[in-house]
Amino acid sequence: MADFKTHITASTSLGLIYSTAAYYTYGVPLEHCLIAGGLCSAAGMLPDLDSSSGIPQREMLAFLSVFVPMLMMPRFQAMGLLPEHMVLASGVLYLLIRFGVGGLFKRYAKHRGMWHSIPAALIAGMITFLISFSGTTEIRIFKAWAVVMGFLSHLILDEIYSVDWQGKKIRVKRSFGTALKLVGKSPILNMLTYTKVIVLMIMIASDDYLMDSLCGHEHGETKSGFDWVMHFINDHDHGHDHAAAGDGSDLFR
Ligand SMILES: [Zn+2]
Repeated sequence: MADFKTHITASTSLGLIYSTAAYYTYGVPLEHCLIAGGLCSAAGMLPDLDSSSGIPQREMLAFLSVFVPMLMMPRFQAMGLLPEHMVLASGVLYLLIRFGVGGLFKRYAKHRGMWHSIPAALIAGMITFLISFSGTTEIRIFKAWAVVMGFLSHLILDEIYSVDWQGKKIRVKRSFGTALKLVGKSPILNMLTYTKVIVLMIMIASDDYLMDSLCGHEHGETKSGFDWVMHFINDHDHGHDHAAAGDGSDLFR
């Protein structure tokens, strides 16, 4: 298994090449290139979120819980949230990632399970697309690919380090084939992983529609944070009206 330093060096170099090429070849704005480079670098450690101990998991959780809310800011802004609401939303996200996602990984993820796989790299990329809301769709895809590449660099390195190149004979370790894989041993986990891929694809496809309905763009107006909260409360009340209209037995469902 490649160590922390090897992974981070590889993904940082890759991020540097990727963002430099985008800047000079396609004229992608510098700030987006810097973010993409940083995302690629960090994604090089992302698969080890499933290693239940040590620096990688702790560092990754700290990184995600701080940077995900930051990347979400343009989306919050598009929703018309007030600065105070953004702070609150960021705080909730911090707790959700640090303790919610972190707790799930600590409890359920097996090292080199399905989080070390090609579909997991796609999942990480698609989540990045949804989170990074600023710029054009091309810029969002550019950042999503940065994460996929950083993630894949980790899986490739894990596989390379599963082969013992020293000595007269090349020896393949037992861990070979457990990182860069499409499916794992458990059919249930495979199904869960690919379900996530499909759900995220649907979320991406309906993202514009969802944001339009939340922000009121179709009416050429932007809802304020307060309007947005009221919109949800009204919808919620609506749901109760429907339930009350029934025989009452469905009120607590
Ligand atoms: Zn690994």
